[in-house]
Amino acid sequence: MTAFTTDLYLDGAWVRGGAGTFTTLNPATGEPLAEVASAGRADVDRAVAAATRALRGDWAATPPSRKGALLHRLADLAERDADRLAWLESLEMGAPAGIAQGLFMPNLIASLRYYAGWADKINGDQLSTDGYFGRATHSYTRREPVGVIAAIIPWNSPLMILGWKLAPALAAGNTVIVKPAEDASLAILHLAKLVAEAGFPPGVVQVLPGIGSVTGEALSVHPGVHKVSFTGSPETGRRILRNSAGSFKRTTLELGGKSPQIVFADADVAAAVQGVATGIFTNQGQVCAAGSRIFVQRTVLDDVLGGLEEAAVAQVLGDPFDPATTMGPLINANQRERVLGYIHKGQEEGAKLVVGGGKPDGPGFFVRPTVFAGTNDFTIAREEIFGPVATVIPFDDDAEAIALANDNDYGLAATVWTRDVGRAHGVSAALQAGAVGVNGWSPLAPQLPWGGLKASGIGRELGYEGILADTEAKTVTIVL
Ligand code: NAD
Repeated sequence: MTAFTTDLYLDGAWVRGGAGTFTTLNPATGEPLAEVASAGRADVDRAVAAATRALRGDWAATPPSRKGALLHRLADLAERDADRLAWLESLEMGAPAGIAQGLFMPNLIASLRYYAGWADKINGDQLSTDGYFGRATHSYTRREPVGVIAAIIPWNSPLMILGWKLAPALAAGNTVIVKPAEDASLAILHLAKLVAEAGFPPGVVQVLPGIGSVTGEALSVHPGVHKVSFTGSPETGRRILRNSAGSFKRTTLELGGKSPQIVFADADVAAAVQGVATGIFTNQGQVCAAGSRIFVQRTVLDDVLGGLEEAAVAQVLGDPFDPATTMGPLINANQRERVLGYIHKGQEEGAKLVVGGGKPDGPGFFVRPTVFAGTNDFTIAREEIFGPVATVIPFDDDAEAIALANDNDYGLAATVWTRDVGRAHGVSAALQAGAVGVNGWSPLAPQLPWGGLKASGIGRELGYEGILADTEAKTVTIVL
């Protein structure tokens, strides 16, 4: 077994956790991969104390431009170790190597560099008022760090999502305690080694692997944690929100979606089919923005269904490290059973299976890319599956497409395929989604705010919104 970093990174030191260890599996084989140290409540207490000391001490005393330099240094080290980080990510969560190397790693590095640039550019405003009982005033806001932030990370693209939380939080002067997902701690623990090498003071960034109901729960109830930034399931998001109420923590919750991809007849249909397939099969559909409801204008329905069938058949399932592989395994046996359960439910409720269904023979947690033809009412078109399963649904005009797309509990992302610029803007404005891509599925960049409406969560990450979410405005008025 290859040696991995498996200890907690706590207060600048590597320690064994107080809650024993847990085993992670290689999802491509089902074989054990590593024994990872598990943080208990006492570890969380120690980490919060260290984060608080750093917040008020070394990190507060670190000049903003130095904070930026440290973030650039971390980006340099992540670039140096990009192959190792991408390899760990593919190994532990099954993403094809090309996606880990070509999408997740560049996104992490871009986030670190983008927010490195923000570190010495976080300013308040000078505010004009009518004065104070006849006296003139000088008022301004200061943008101050929120405090100790718990970043609770899912398994589906751990390094990229960590970058979205860690980089703005550090640029804004916060300290961060990272809780990776049980199935994907190894790449994040390697990044913690780079945090240490970069020279961040102890307690500024800590990584506590552990069980969600123990480590994650302890962070979300801890009165010393000022904010929880969470990406994951709505059930856990709701629980974190309830737990956060105890000490009125700030929360950012990114809870996934059931995102529509709308193909109008005026689109470049061949390009749309390729884009739609990317939107549902990338990372085996384990993407919060997965475009799992595909609305197609009736006049091009057969072309799109035929094209998606071809795209599904062309997927190569296999070893994430084989360059020919386009789809790896799902994360674990539970997730595979969950996805297979939805496929079964689709068939039971009468959706037409166009292609796929079921799992291939052999080891690993693989599921075949699957496309159904159906309606917006089927369970498979209403609930987040988090697997490579799409439902294609016809529509006749713009109003119907918008109504169908908005008829869902979620509101994270949406994609519109059209050549008509008026339609592109009009439909984008009418969609209930935090982000809309036109003629390209889910554009992601550190400059672009990201987050959802409705059951997709609360708040925004990335862009300037990410700085606002990680700072508090303090108003100061001098009566002159
Ligand atoms: P989850 O929400 O349980 O786990 C996400 C993170 O939250 C993990 O780090 C986990 O350890 C932690 N956690 C779990 N219980 C916690 C608690 N009580 N307090 C604090 N933290 C806690 O998600 P999951 O069980 O790994 O996956 C279940 C489903 O969630 C998936 O099938 C998928 O539908 C959805 N999901 C969505 C995203 C997304 O990007 N929005 C990511 C992962 C999973």
